[in-house]
Amino acid sequence: MIEISNLVKNYGSKFAVDDISFKISKGEIVGFLGPNGAGKSTTMNILTGYLSSTSGVAKVGGIDILENPYEAKKIIGFLPEQPPLYMDMTVNEYLNFVYEIKECKLNRKKHLEEVRQVTKIDDVQNRLIKNLSKGYRQRVGIAQALIGNPPVIIFDEPTVGLDPKQIIEIRNLIRNLGHSHTVILSTHILSEVQSVCDRIIIINEGKIIADEKTESITQVVEDNRRYNVKICGPQREVLNTLKGISGVLSAELTGERELDSYTYLIESERGVDVRKPVFYAMSQKSWPIIGFEAVGMNLEEVFIKIMDKASK
Ligand code: ADP
Ligand code: MG
Repeated sequence: MIEISNLVKNYGSKFAVDDISFKISKGEIVGFLGPNGAGKSTTMNILTGYLSSTSGVAKVGGIDILENPYEAKKIIGFLPEQPPLYMDMTVNEYLNFVYEIKECKLNRKKHLEEVRQVTKIDDVQNRLIKNLSKGYRQRVGIAQALIGNPPVIIFDEPTVGLDPKQIIEIRNLIRNLGHSHTVILSTHILSEVQSVCDRIIIINEGKIIADEKTESITQVVEDNRRYNVKICGPQREVLNTLKGISGVLSAELTGERELDSYTYLIESERGVDVRKPVFYAMSQKSWPIIGFEAVGMNLEEVFIKIMDKASK
């Protein structure tokens, strides 16, 4: 459904996108994951015909977006990073306006009603867009992408700036769209792609560094066993005892202290659960453990792990 080959976009000597290729089949939900400046928006803007590429080919539904932008755009619904909303229109005026510029042929009343229902904006349909909250504006942006019922949906950072409740709602909405559409979304949040996508393409400095099923990236993340453990006791002795526990790969002080307790970061060997041994070792010395928390990986650490894995 989507095919990108050797795509390059440079601004002078700066390569925003540096020789990217991938294919996405019908019905997939693919996450484009990468830190700010990775090249996600540039790729999406090229794919949707908003930006020209320096070289390479982008095809949607077999249509070359550069050669045939008008035809290609018809099958794409796009939510750009900055949704193109007209603040002085009401939601309905705006949706009707989009319906017209897209030359939509579906039954207007019925289709717009459906779109409003899916995106849950029915109750604000007569409000001016400028008076809507960020969450509602984002939904109106999504609604505009859905008009015409395009088979391919492309969302650039759809949950940026939303509160946690709104984030969950938008993620559910995207997951539901995935049942009947091909979806690409970009994000710099690992848990977002994990919860929504079947497949993850990780992009960094304009290059693809991983393209895998979500499960295999999740495995890489879960492979990491690190804990912050808060223990009351003499710091040097506690540290030495921790280091002596079988299965503990490393232990160090985090610098965080609170009255008589210090927090230690411990890393365990692969496949070893050190939580019970740590508990027994500390209780033997009567050093109470008052906190035990798994430490998640951030995006940079995930990158390093994945690149390690790829180079092996
Ligand atoms: P992302 O969406 O992943 O945050 P972008 O695709 O927006 O990344 O940007 C990729 C890189 O290209 C960044 O380093 C950005 O500064 C650069 N870039 C994007 N647009 C322009 C432009 N119009 N002129 C110069 N550099 C740009
Ligand atoms: Mg971006």
